[in-house]
Amino acid sequence: MLAIAAHPDDLELACGGTLAKFVDSGHEVQELVMSDGERGGNVEARCGEARRGASFLGLAGLQHFSFTDADLAGHAQEMIQEIEAAIARFKPDIILTHSHHDYHQDHQAVHAATLRAARRHSSILCYESPSATREFDPCVFVDIDDYVEAKVQAVLMHGDQRDKPYMAAERLRGIAIFRGAQARRKVAEAFEPVRMLATEMGSFEAESIGRRVIAVHPESSRESRRSALNQTCWEAALPKQPMPYGEQLARMDWDQDRAGARPEDTDHANR
Ligand SMILES: [Zn+2]
Repeated sequence: MLAIAAHPDDLELACGGTLAKFVDSGHEVQELVMSDGERGGNVEARCGEARRGASFLGLAGLQHFSFTDADLAGHAQEMIQEIEAAIARFKPDIILTHSHHDYHQDHQAVHAATLRAARRHSSILCYESPSATREFDPCVFVDIDDYVEAKVQAVLMHGDQRDKPYMAAERLRGIAIFRGAQARRKVAEAFEPVRMLATEMGSFEAESIGRRVIAVHPESSRESRRSALNQTCWEAALPKQPMPYGEQLARMDWDQDRAGARPEDTDHANR
């Protein structure tokens, strides 16, 4: 997965839970940040915080560029080239970027540059920043149950920005609950797809079968979250090789005959 952001804290705020979940389910997540955020705070602090945030979430890599904060549109061509290079290098299954429905000019510029650079890519999702407009209209949701606190901790690592109202843990949890309600889940993060190849989300199916509780600690790392994962053995819940389709049908018929259950009595019908 390739996640692209305008500023150092954008990804943690918008989709920190999703990124941690992707990492835990075995994806390699690479991050691109286009500016130092010098207009919004202390450059040195923000660069360090971007690294800490990425490391906390367990991302495989972070490339941080110094295109002019608040004027990323003036660097459109350079951003397109860098994103194209990252796509060629990492060959991501899914690309995450800012939404067009966002009133920050840098976010819009990164969205446009991503779409241009990823013009031949099949799966692009746009995440929800605090500056999303009312037109932001998601239809793809990622259940971040067990990951809300990981997201909150990742955002809190951006101490230089801590006074911004949208950094508050309470607000992050509130948005997760609101998007969760839309997705008929407890908590979620929301995305607008530019286009999405369904098979690229396949591993989430496996992941959601086995719930796990992540012990979040400020010093938590990918390793500690991974070891929490290992304790739950969710992989055992899945057949290693899927049964052939015909065999699955035969098995279902047999199960229903044996139980004497009508289809509407089965667990499947209740889901
Ligand atoms: Zn931003």
